[in-house]
Formats: sequence, structure tokens, C-alpha cells
Amino acid sequence: MNKYIICGPQGSGKGTQSRLLCETHDLVHVSIGDILRWHMAHHTKLAARITRIMNSGQLVPDEIVDNVVRERLGLHDYNYGFVLDGYPRTLPQAQYLFENWDVDRVIYLDIADDIVFERVLSRAKMGLGGGFTKRADDNPEALKVRLTEYYEKTKPVLEHYDKKGILVTVDGTQPINDVFGQVSSQLGLTPLVPPPEAVAALDDPHAALPGAAH
Ligand code: AMP
Repeated sequence: MNKYIICGPQGSGKGTQSRLLCETHDLVHVSIGDILRWHMAHHTKLAARITRIMNSGQLVPDEIVDNVVRERLGLHDYNYGFVLDGYPRTLPQAQYLFENWDVDRVIYLDIADDIVFERVLSRAKMGLGGGFTKRADDNPEALKVRLTEYYEKTKPVLEHYDKKGILVTVDGTQPINDVFGQVSSQLGLTPLVPPPEAVAALDDPHAALPGAAH
């Protein structure tokens, strides 16, 4: 079984690379952001606790996301493994994860700060004016908060993975297929060609961020 974490700042292509990896290697994509948004869309009890926090761009408290992850991974619906996208985002979350699950590799999509801002702000602009389904946290104010959270709380966790010897760093500024090729080879996976439907899905503005080379 292959158990991976994918991380990187907003606009690094985590969602896109997770989807390609899962499509080509039969892995299950576990996106914590998607699960939290599902709760908000369905007005669950949890939604009442997280909506304001998420819409402002802040991180949801550790104990809430740890529970979401425990319940989601506890379903054991992954025969070949999973890609955990958007978790852990703090050191306590990483500690919780490693106390309870084995992880084979952490894929870090590295992109320079100026490109992060360029991609993220252009996504915000598209969201505001482009007629796509807009995320409530894709506005300049919330994006600023999300980036600050990333640099203050999430980026420092990379050191933790590095010490464990499981960190794999890939240059996320390359074209999508090149990033995917490098991710696959660094994980020791056969570099399978992404199926056409997976590539077509990249036309989805929320799958492939503007500014990412195609
Ligand atoms: P994402 O879709 O991964 O960008 O996540 C969207 C939002 O969900 C984040 O800005 C946070 O508010 C919340 N969120 C997702 N994952 C986590 C996490 N691991 N810890 C705390 N908050 C999270």
C-alpha cells in the first residue's frame, strides 16, 4: 500500500497532482478541505463550528481536523493507498498523524513565494469576475490570511518530515506533466500516462490554477 501526503503553498498544484496520482495508481484522494466544504454545503453540526473560520482563511482547530482525518481514514476504502491533501498543516496535526498511521512519503511541491502570490491572486480575480463556482475563501483578504497561516504553521512542518527521511521535493513551477513525471519517479512509481479524462479535468479552473504551465 502507498500512503502519501502532498503539501505545498496555495497555487502549487497539490489538487492537480493528487488527482493525477490517484487516477493513475488507483489511490484514494483524501482532501480535508473538500470534506470540510462538504460539511458546510450540507449545513452539518460541524459546519456551524467551522464556516466562519474557513471563510476567513484561518486554519480550523487541530482537534476538529484530527477527528475528520480519523473518521475518513478509518473507512479503510483504499486498497492500494491514499494521497492525503491538505493535512497535516500544523506540527501537532503531524504528530497526531504519525502516532496513528504510517506514511511512506511526503511530496512537497516547491514554488517560489512570488509565484505563489501571482497564482493565488489571479485565482482570486478569476473567482471574483470569471463566473466560476467561487470558493468563499478565494478573496484577497482570506487568501492573505491563508498564506500567512501556511508560512507560519505549515511550512515549518517540512523539517519534521525531512528529519524522518521521507520528504520528496519537486519543483512545482514546471509544466503539469513534468511535475507529475518527477513525482512518480521520485516515489519509485511506474510513470504511467495520465488518462485523457484526468487531463481533461485539468481544464477545470479549480483543478489547475491559472499561472501553472500546461
Ligand atoms: P484547502 O482546500 O486545502 O485549501 O483548505 C481550505 C480551508 O480548509 C483552509 O483554509 C482551512 O480553513 C481548512 N483546512 C483544510 N485542511 C486543514 C487542516 N489540515 N488544518 C486546519 N484547517 C484546514
